[in-house]
Amino acid sequence: MKVKAIRTNCRTGVEREVEIEIIRRKYPGLDGWWYSIVKGGVTGFESCRCEFFDRDMRWWACIGAKDRWDKLFVPPESLLRIKMMNYSLVTESEEFTEKKGMINIYACGCGRVVVYGYEDNGVTPNIIICDQCGGEAFSQFEQVTQPSRIWYRPSSLEELEKIAEAAWAAGADTIYCNEDKAKMIGSIFSNYVEHYNNGGLFARMV
Ligand SMILES: [Zn+2]
Repeated sequence: MKVKAIRTNCRTGVEREVEIEIIRRKYPGLDGWWYSIVKGGVTGFESCRCEFFDRDMRWWACIGAKDRWDKLFVPPESLLRIKMMNYSLVTESEEFTEKKGMINIYACGCGRVVVYGYEDNGVTPNIIICDQCGGEAFSQFEQVTQPSRIWYRPSSLEELEKIAEAAWAAGADTIYCNEDKAKMIGSIFSNYVEHYNNGGLFARMV
């Protein structure tokens, strides 16, 4: 792997950008993996143990002959590219859950619902942090394939009346709280008829 570095000339103090080539290798008789500068160095033996390097992400290599050391500074963006030599990405695994093409929703107690589609197979959390209240939003896979509520059109005025009565009992329309029961249900009922005639749907549990 070739990366950019900055070399400081030991005699003139002049800095210039150089390209160094680094490999990941083992040395006979030594443990572990090492990074080694194979091009762009001077002595040809500038090396660093991978484990030290990965912990520090710093590399000041001294290159040159005795009493004449050039300094080689490897900037962070180059260090990151060097570190990448240790890793590879798994493209597909039998460990991955088959989810491609599915839809999942995360529902929070605050009412926030977020729908996720799956572009790939993989593993996803059962709980995510709600982006509205910071609480926990739970995965609701089963509700996607098997809804718990249905939007529908009631079949008669009588049914609308029953729905209005249930809404009153549930305290859904608190703006009527100071009226008597029959008047309140009547008001809710007429609102529901208007809603219905404007194409509005009603929700019920499955
Ligand atoms: Zn929430």
